[in-house]
Amino acid sequence: MMDIFAQLQRVFGFSSFRNNQEDIVEAILAGRDVFAVMPTGGGKSLCYQLPASLLSGGCIVISPLISLMKDQVDAAIAIGLDAAYLNSTLTQSKQQEVMAKMQRGGYQLLYLSPERLALPGFLQRLKQSPFAFLAVDEAHCISEWGHDFRPDYLALSRIREEFPHLPLAAFTATATEKVQEDITRRLHLSEPLLVRASFDRPNLFYQVVPRQQVNKQIAEAIREHKGEAGIVYRLSRNDVEKTAAYLSARGITALPYHAGLEAGERQSNQEAFNRDEVQVIVATVAFGMGIDKSNVRFVIHGDLPKNLESYYQETGRAGRDNEPAHCLLFYSRGDFFRLRPFIEQLQDQQEREFGLQQLRRMMAFAEQPKCRRRAVLAYFDEEYGQENCGACDICVHGIEEINGTIDAQKVMSAIYRTDQRFGVGHIVDIVYGAKSKRIVSLGHDQIKTYGVGRKEGKGHWRSVIDALLAQGLLRAEGGEYPLLKLTAAGEEVLFGKKDFIHHAILGPEKAVGQEDSHDQDLFSRLQLLRREMADAEGVPPYVLFSDRSLREMCCRYPENEAEFLAVSGVGQVKLSQYGAAFLAVIRDYLAEHPEIEKGPQAAAEEKEKQAGPKRLSSSDTLTETFVLAQEGLGVEEIAARRGLKPITIAGHLEQIFQQGENGLDILCFVEPDLLEELCAQFAAHGMARLKPVVESMGGRADYDLARIVRGYLEGTDTPLSFLPG
Ligand code: ADP
Ligand code: MG
Repeated sequence: MMDIFAQLQRVFGFSSFRNNQEDIVEAILAGRDVFAVMPTGGGKSLCYQLPASLLSGGCIVISPLISLMKDQVDAAIAIGLDAAYLNSTLTQSKQQEVMAKMQRGGYQLLYLSPERLALPGFLQRLKQSPFAFLAVDEAHCISEWGHDFRPDYLALSRIREEFPHLPLAAFTATATEKVQEDITRRLHLSEPLLVRASFDRPNLFYQVVPRQQVNKQIAEAIREHKGEAGIVYRLSRNDVEKTAAYLSARGITALPYHAGLEAGERQSNQEAFNRDEVQVIVATVAFGMGIDKSNVRFVIHGDLPKNLESYYQETGRAGRDNEPAHCLLFYSRGDFFRLRPFIEQLQDQQEREFGLQQLRRMMAFAEQPKCRRRAVLAYFDEEYGQENCGACDICVHGIEEINGTIDAQKVMSAIYRTDQRFGVGHIVDIVYGAKSKRIVSLGHDQIKTYGVGRKEGKGHWRSVIDALLAQGLLRAEGGEYPLLKLTAAGEEVLFGKKDFIHHAILGPEKAVGQEDSHDQDLFSRLQLLRREMADAEGVPPYVLFSDRSLREMCCRYPENEAEFLAVSGVGQVKLSQYGAAFLAVIRDYLAEHPEIEKGPQAAAEEKEKQAGPKRLSSSDTLTETFVLAQEGLGVEEIAARRGLKPITIAGHLEQIFQQGENGLDILCFVEPDLLEELCAQFAAHGMARLKPVVESMGGRADYDLARIVRGYLEGTDTPLSFLPG
């Protein structure tokens, strides 16, 4: 029996398999076909690389892109595997050399493009080579339904016939059933081991924020990710250029990537990003397939993707190393009108309808106050099992009902008084009180609502209009410059017969609530060393060590070879290649910092981290509020102390009280009489909505207070029992 666990540790430097990896490895070793659908970052490569390292003759890997091949081969060589690729970038003589070695069975891994298989005579030579099995990576490229169909992949349909006795293992991250069926059918897999992993990417934090001044918002978001690599997606080439320039002008190193750039420039921008020479790549959807960079820490969408599939694929490029990463979408409803023309260009009526339906679903994702993870997974027909995913804005921050009737009336009255003949921009200008030529010449600076909303800013009014459209209180009519009209339901709000209630996400004070416990100083030094050594070898930095490995070094401070080997991702070869250099930096650092204690505590923390994918949790922020409340501070004071909004603190207190007995006295927050009255109102109106309760209190209790009392009521059995009197 081959010891796959020993090999996992020795070659790959990992202490355990991920979900499904072990089964797949065993199946290949037992000579079975495999079809595995696993999400990005799920660890597909190891599934064929490990058996390849054990079976004599190794593995032929079919992989779609030449640029990917090089990185993968570099990474395989870096862990000591005998790997190579065969493609047109090699000189003729190098190609001959590789083929000769292939025919001797000299490689553990040989990467080929599908085009290569189709070259005359090549298949014959391959058939004479003694390799042990074949792997088809990115197998969705064979499907015309996939997002990156490659006609050359169709040639793979013949593989099964040509190599009837060898195991064939196909891998893809594409989740749609249609594509999966296509793959199985076209590859003629025989009774394969079928693996369909969950599509959940627990390390990705999903967040949607209303778009206002997008470039400014993007720059601010990136500042939260100092020194971390990320991708910014924009819809148009023009916006890509503008955003890249905006960021560069503000000291964030960023390069553009889109199909309008010359191939050479595109390539070199991608390289620079890959090698951590620039922090950010700003790109259209043209960017993606060719990148295998594992340490992308954030993906920002400046515009709405056209469907959830694209959103999943694009955000999926973050956190391939399974470390926490942030997916941030800036949303404005206006994107519908920018995307619609692309869909309307489609020839086929059915496709057009499907496209629009998909776009609407994408909008619903951004607009509905529901767990983002659940919505993404539902798109792939996967039901998410947990109540709270712990890693999206909705689940972590919670949502708040807002009565926006007055705002709605301001907007609607502007629409009404201008005969429903203007679009979003103009209406916003009126409410905001812009002094544009158009406004003046139309006399719109004379109407009653002109300038009533200056204080809130234009972005606010755009968001209000978005929310009104989303709820069907307004509708947008017409093509490129749609006009805003009131619907019947909208008129009811305008004339005060109905309220306009919408949702806001509670104080998203911190996008990703990760408290990093690693040593940032040492991390920077190791990052630099990684880059220098990678440059010297002409490979991307993450090929040497993943961010995860570096972070572990910065918690554990390994000082000798044994300790270095214990770091995840360090196997024998990496130890001997890079161990000395990295250990030297760590030892120097420790010498400069005698105060650092490497102790059981650091090790224990580390263990905890490794125990599973880390959930980003809100518990830390709750604890902070709790501690301050225990000291006797009120909502306002806690808010001021923490630099957060009172509403956020009230939300925290609600959750704290909900959890039941906590040692906090509700009477520190509310006078007994008022508490009693609030309890009675909740009894009368139910707990679901705050508004009726607050309204019936006639100004004596605000939303924050009502919220806290509601939490208290939910967390206690006999609420009124200890009230005096
Ligand atoms: P995929 O091809 O499925 O997107 P990769 O094969 O590129 O994913 O692997 C993603 C990351 O996970 C890599 O950094 C890889 O080293 C790491 N990885 C794979 N298997 C394991 C494991 N068993 N333990 C720890 N890390 C792993
Ligand atoms: Mg892969």
